[in-house]
Amino acid sequence: MSNLFPNYGRQDFEIMSGKGCQVTDDQGRTYLDFTSGIGVMNLGYGNPLLEEALVKQSRELWHMPNLYQSHLQEEVAELLAAQHDFVAFFCNSGTEANEAAIKLARKATGRSKLITFLDSFHGRTYGGMSATGQEKIHEGFQPLVPGFTYLPYNQLAPLEEALDQDTAAVMLEVVQGEGGVLPAEKAWLQAVAELCKENGTLLIVDEVQTGIGRTGKLFAFEHFNIQPDIVTLAKGLGNGFPVGAMLGKRELTAAFGPGSHGSTFGGNKLAMAAAKSVLQQLDDDLLAHVATGSQQLLAALQEIDSPYLKEVRGLGLMIGLELTDELPVGTVISQLQAKGLLTLRAGANVLRLLPPLTVSIEEMMQAAAWIKEVIQEA
Ligand SMILES: *Cc1c(COP(=O)(O)O)cnc(C)c1O
Repeated sequence: MSNLFPNYGRQDFEIMSGKGCQVTDDQGRTYLDFTSGIGVMNLGYGNPLLEEALVKQSRELWHMPNLYQSHLQEEVAELLAAQHDFVAFFCNSGTEANEAAIKLARKATGRSKLITFLDSFHGRTYGGMSATGQEKIHEGFQPLVPGFTYLPYNQLAPLEEALDQDTAAVMLEVVQGEGGVLPAEKAWLQAVAELCKENGTLLIVDEVQTGIGRTGKLFAFEHFNIQPDIVTLAKGLGNGFPVGAMLGKRELTAAFGPGSHGSTFGGNKLAMAAAKSVLQQLDDDLLAHVATGSQQLLAALQEIDSPYLKEVRGLGLMIGLELTDELPVGTVISQLQAKGLLTLRAGANVLRLLPPLTVSIEEMMQAAAWIKEVIQEA
């Protein structure tokens, strides 16, 4: 009998160690990991520079609250915002980053209405959950935070109708992750950004899953030629050390004055040492590898010929294979696991691949071959 709440559907084995893109379970079985701990281990397992940075910081100081200066927070903020005029607030998770974004948007605009999208995912705390446009995630937890409206993704007319001078913010993922690996259409996203600007509405881009190189750019919004007012980050930022961040345009600083918002652990020394090492390693070469690797992996997956495969889509190393109802994604995940490949589900019936960004072309081709076998033999 377990001593844990059964709120997770867990597999019956435990992963005990990892190196690069390979992990080993408690039975000694090894797997190629195409989950990266749900988009977290972007630099893979056992990254030596990251280990060194954490060991070094752990011998100096683990924690100090935000009552004092933090050169590490300043450095991480600089690394994150180098190309954009953002300032940063640090927290510990994606949902906390979104809480900060929602609070900042309301305070900065003095407006209460927030628009998000159907099939979005923004986290599990009350703000993040209320922002999430999925009924199954709200079930049993009502009343939600008031003020949210959920609109169809990639459709402009409903947004034109709903967005007005009382709208504090539009919040979206540029590729819906949990919702089924659904990329935004460029023209739509640009129109959304324009509409926000015209109405004095802030554009919040939730990059918790898409950020930190996942799509081949530091931020996925950079593919779309838009400039958000607020960006939220977490998953890959600490490569497994819990850290989240909200970035916002410098002109929003007045709304988040001393005492307005905070976090005891946010920007913790160990977390910042991890984030700094991650960002220093996320160089142009690695981003270029994500882009070329993505093309090759997508091309290999496009070759799968099966009546059960509806679509292969994605951006960078965030890839989804939408299956028909006749082939449940759970079956595919189990069969891949038996071959030695760990994968994820998303949306209604989508096989989601989020390998570490450091995955080799060889490993991608091996994974594609196994996926092809499983789907074609179904
Ligand atoms: C995972 C995720 C979150 C929630 O992050 P947590 O760290 O689990 O709170 C929020 N938004 C998106 C887009 C995510 O993928």
